[in-house]
Amino acid sequence: MEKYNDILYIVVPCYNEEEVLHETSSRLKEKMTSLINEGKVSDKSRIIFVNDGSRDKTWEIIEELYNSDEIFGGISLSRNKGHQNALLAGLMTAKEHADITISMDADLQDDINVVDKFVDKYHEGCDIVYGVRSSRKTDTAFKRGTAGMFYKFMKLLGVDIVDNHADYRLMSKKALEALSQFKEVNLFLRGIVKQIGFKSDIVYYERSERFAGESKYPLKKMLAFAFDGITSFSIKPIRLVTVVGFIVFLISIGFIIYSIVQNILGNTQAGWSSLMCSIWFLSGIQIMALGIVGEYIGKIYTEVKERPKFIIDKFIKH
Ligand code: UDP
Ligand code: MG
Repeated sequence: MEKYNDILYIVVPCYNEEEVLHETSSRLKEKMTSLINEGKVSDKSRIIFVNDGSRDKTWEIIEELYNSDEIFGGISLSRNKGHQNALLAGLMTAKEHADITISMDADLQDDINVVDKFVDKYHEGCDIVYGVRSSRKTDTAFKRGTAGMFYKFMKLLGVDIVDNHADYRLMSKKALEALSQFKEVNLFLRGIVKQIGFKSDIVYYERSERFAGESKYPLKKMLAFAFDGITSFSIKPIRLVTVVGFIVFLISIGFIIYSIVQNILGNTQAGWSSLMCSIWFLSGIQIMALGIVGEYIGKIYTEVKERPKFIIDKFIKH
């Protein structure tokens, strides 16, 4: 069997995860050790926990783990910055030391046994491997419904996104270097990663239940996350305003003709025609103007993000 020397860093963002860390760390260590023993990754591979400003004993546990075994490492953020930022902090730190990174949640909802498949795909030449849930049996009907709607809506708005893929994914050093060129502050990783390109593949897995503790994504955070995702990848909502304005404007023309005809026929109260016309006409113009201003804001918005215009995959020359 072939032996590989790539260094793998598993990056795990943790926010108030004291209840799960012991179990998670021991299972991850077991997995990592077997990968090392099978020669799939280098023995310099590490498991890195990112403490996202937890208020419980999370960081103390990470320090304990670090002192107990060299396989564990930790990063502590200055305060709670949210899942996406914590993940990015972990990945950007890891890319300086690792050839491959795999990101996953601390609650082991994502089946860690597919890590093997991730690594195999990497050795087959993939730079990004997406973990995709084959079913959502363990999620509540509500979460399933809303998530389904969210992915459909994103697609409708023209956002390129992998269905049912959360942030369980392998990224090579090359993919992370590319990711670091995206300067935007509003992070929606699963959308950005798709923009990077490179050879990628999908690995399916069953999502299980959180084995301890509760979700750190209450409805409020979930909605904010979805809204962020939509608005940082699409300016279609702005275009919608322009379209609505235009439709109201068209209606106003109809109304103007209608009220002039009624006026000539003498069916109207004094003042009705002029009022009707101005209300529709002005509203139409106003909404349209808003939309046009919005279009420019949209342009500015995409400009200030300073996304890379291209990412080079390979360059060969003699
Ligand atoms: N998380 C984080 N910062 C936050 C919220 C969550 O780092 O502000 C981490 C959390 O510790 C977990 C992952 O993000 O490792 C996903 O959170 P959770 O499992 O609660 O979300 P769910 O699976 O319920 O969508
Ligand atoms: Mg979870």
